[in-house]
Amino acid sequence: MIPLPFLKDKTVGVFGLGKAGTSAIKALAASGANIVAWDDKSTCDYSLEIEKWPWQILSYLVLSPGIPFTHPVPHKVVTLAQKHNVPIICDIELLYLSQSHVRFVGITGTNGKSTTTALIGHIIREANIACQVGGNIGISALELSPLGADGIYVIETSSYQLDLLDKTRFNVAILLNVTPDHLDRHGDMDGYIKAKNRIFRNQTSKDVAVIGVDNPHTKKIAASNVTSARMIPISAFGKVDELGLGALPYLPGAHNKENIAAAYAACSALHIPHEKIITGIQSFKGLAHRMERVAEKNGVLFINDSKATNAEATEKALLSYDKPILWIAGGKAKEGGIEALKPLFPRIECAYLIGDAQDLFAETLDQNHVPFVRCGTLDKAVKQAYEKARTLSKATVLLSPACASFDQFKNFEERGEIFSNLVKAL
Ligand code: ADP
Repeated sequence: MIPLPFLKDKTVGVFGLGKAGTSAIKALAASGANIVAWDDKSTCDYSLEIEKWPWQILSYLVLSPGIPFTHPVPHKVVTLAQKHNVPIICDIELLYLSQSHVRFVGITGTNGKSTTTALIGHIIREANIACQVGGNIGISALELSPLGADGIYVIETSSYQLDLLDKTRFNVAILLNVTPDHLDRHGDMDGYIKAKNRIFRNQTSKDVAVIGVDNPHTKKIAASNVTSARMIPISAFGKVDELGLGALPYLPGAHNKENIAAAYAACSALHIPHEKIITGIQSFKGLAHRMERVAEKNGVLFINDSKATNAEATEKALLSYDKPILWIAGGKAKEGGIEALKPLFPRIECAYLIGDAQDLFAETLDQNHVPFVRCGTLDKAVKQAYEKARTLSKATVLLSPACASFDQFKNFEERGEIFSNLVKAL
């Protein structure tokens, strides 16, 4: 837990009692702060309606990144804080205020954040440097441990969290790519890009900005004077292949080359020697549920890409494996279904459909002459895909649902774990 001694006897508001809010309350309580908190759905020992908060004396409002800050309309708690000039921040800002003697690496982008964050953390640890990885990746900033001046925090930051940072300065800030996403929360593309650009706020000429230039939006950002830091442009088509890092089993596909390039640039900027970065990248085992190699049985490779909840993410997976692919898909469909995947249909040997989307997907596949089986549930899909795969040479059974999981599972993690267990039990 992160100590917050500067908030002893101060009063702090916490709005939103999810993971980040709950960790903030623990850290604030342990540091002797007075807390007022609220959540529409749950309560805690400090719960008090926001109209009754002592707004005049609040030092901060710690806002859950899930609460609308500007769009579609600011939440009432935001308006109240602004009216009383209370700074609105998130947990990452408190981590920075407590640990500003430590180096910070920040990672943002529409896609690849978690992979790049985990990869950088792994390289740093393998280089025997104390490191803590957290933020949007799932470990709240205030749950992390304090570090000495030699340590490094590697923090995945969403655009929502970036909106809630003020003094945080990233010694290395990474912006991977930007595609239209979360526009409801940022108003429009300009608003979204503006939020992403906030990762460079407070940087000085001593810092480094790593920016992906394969993407038209971030390419433009790289060409602008968005940061005072030294800029390192990175590309999937740069040195990654030359360095022999282009076809690693745990970082497959062209999209991962961008993540590798970003991690390499960031770690170089942190003065980690070239050889150590290379061995770190080579020994990285990937993240669970993102094109995760689950097993190889009788020449059949099983991949868990449960995190692929839309066609865009599934596209990356279908591109990353050689034929023949036995594709397990379906769940709660997203707008557009799998129409966008048509160019990749020739890569699919047979599709095994599950969940609510099975009829919708069956229709699209049928129109395009792709063989498919309606399986209904994941256990049937795994069994049938494996039966077929065994008759082929070097087949890949790929769970990449292109759907949300909520029709049959708690979340994409549960879906992926059940898949892995089914595979292990085959
Ligand atoms: P995020 O944390 O930004 O959601 P992840 O690292 O969890 O990203 O990857 C999620 C999915 O996004 C992956 O399974 C892959 O399909 C896709 N992806 C990963 N890296 C990139 C990238 N650099 N560019 C485009 N898509 C990517």
